[in-house]
Amino acid sequence: MDSHMIKDSYRQMVVDAGNTMVSLGLTVGTWGNISVRDVETGLIYIKPSGMPYCDITIDDIVVMNSKYEIVSGHRKPSIEFHFHIGIMNARKDVNAIIHTHPIFSSAFAVTRQDIPGISEDFVQIVGDKVINCEYSLPGTPELAINVVKGLGDRNAVMVPNHGTICVGADIPSALKICHVVEKSAQIYIYAKLIGDPQIISEPDMRAMQDFARNHYGQGK
Ligand SMILES: [Zn+2]
Repeated sequence: MDSHMIKDSYRQMVVDAGNTMVSLGLTVGTWGNISVRDVETGLIYIKPSGMPYCDITIDDIVVMNSKYEIVSGHRKPSIEFHFHIGIMNARKDVNAIIHTHPIFSSAFAVTRQDIPGISEDFVQIVGDKVINCEYSLPGTPELAINVVKGLGDRNAVMVPNHGTICVGADIPSALKICHVVEKSAQIYIYAKLIGDPQIISEPDMRAMQDFARNHYGQGK
């Protein structure tokens, strides 16, 4: 591996995203993990296993390829590298993956319920709903198969009794998905306490997704 293919800027993205994830309360301790793919080289930069986010520097980031091989780094990669690389291989539109252990969406993962499409931001950028994939033990190749299948073409999936996985074209997009999924889970739980939450209709979901994809933003 040519060392010039390894980019410090990508290592730094993983370090920074980890600190952001902790500061937003989306995980605790060493749990959760992050990866980002450099589309130019196809290399995937991933968090090291079992290190507190505040201790991780760019020298600790592990670089892997699409064949699940380590190409650079002296640390062991996150035990969840199977699903990070599995998702990257299955979804060419995904270049960043953030796996969180959050509170509100975990309530859905523990009760194995879907997070339904109840708010505009959620249906525009996450999908019609977020489902639980089939249960498997953490860090196993079986979990990776179940995660890829459960994610499908949505931008988030829950792992039963474990946590949430959010994906995006880059780190800011994946972080936004984490935020919106967690917010929607919180809203739904609160809404259930005071009444009967209404789900957005399928035609309206499609219309909002089309608008977000094709017309929203400056210059569209
Ligand atoms: Zn986890």
